[in-house]
Amino acid sequence: MRILIVEDEAAIVRFLERGLAAHGHQLVSADNGEEGARLAADESVELVLLDISLPQLDGHRVLERIRAERPTLPVLMLTARDDVKNKVSALNAGADDYLTKPFAFEELLARLHALTRRSDQPQSSRIESGDLRVDLLSRQVWRADKKIELSSREFALLEYFMRHPGQVLSRQQILSAIWDYAFDPGSNVVDVYVRYLRRKIDLPGEQSCIATVRGVGYRFEPPAG
Ligand code: CA
Repeated sequence: MRILIVEDEAAIVRFLERGLAAHGHQLVSADNGEEGARLAADESVELVLLDISLPQLDGHRVLERIRAERPTLPVLMLTARDDVKNKVSALNAGADDYLTKPFAFEELLARLHALTRRSDQPQSSRIESGDLRVDLLSRQVWRADKKIELSSREFALLEYFMRHPGQVLSRQQILSAIWDYAFDPGSNVVDVYVRYLRRKIDLPGEQSCIATVRGVGYRFEPPAG
């Protein structure tokens, strides 16, 4: 996992760098709030450890900027101040958790794991596949520069396909994932919705992004682009 540390105390940064690298994480660090906010906008960062008292821009302001740009990025606030007011305001401002310094490394690790488990579903608010883009928060879809309007079922179906690229998905699998209840296996609802979806996301004259696997179901083939 690529983790951003925004912390101005070099000793803490070193301590975290050593420990996290030993657990296979990649680290990026910033020693002031401005730089931290800038680095957090980079999509390759998957989690942020954010100190509250920082030069240039304090942790609360950095958090506001992060939330404006990346609403689902997990942020763990680090605070030296063990006062309730700061913690409450951090959580109200959208931090996912906080840790009071000094802390044991094992505790940090446990919190990180809990946070990334929680964010496992919409790890990023966007899924991209070739020139097909889906924004899970605004629920908008684009093919290249063209915006596509989908119904909520069509959207769910497309999201499911895009999360399983290249995999053969049976009708029954799709039914239980999207319709969420035991549908009559003889129902052709999946085929009907795949047809709707193809009509909207495919380009005329080109091969469909959703291939039919005869006798089984469908396979999503990421479009080029
Ligand atoms: Ca500090």
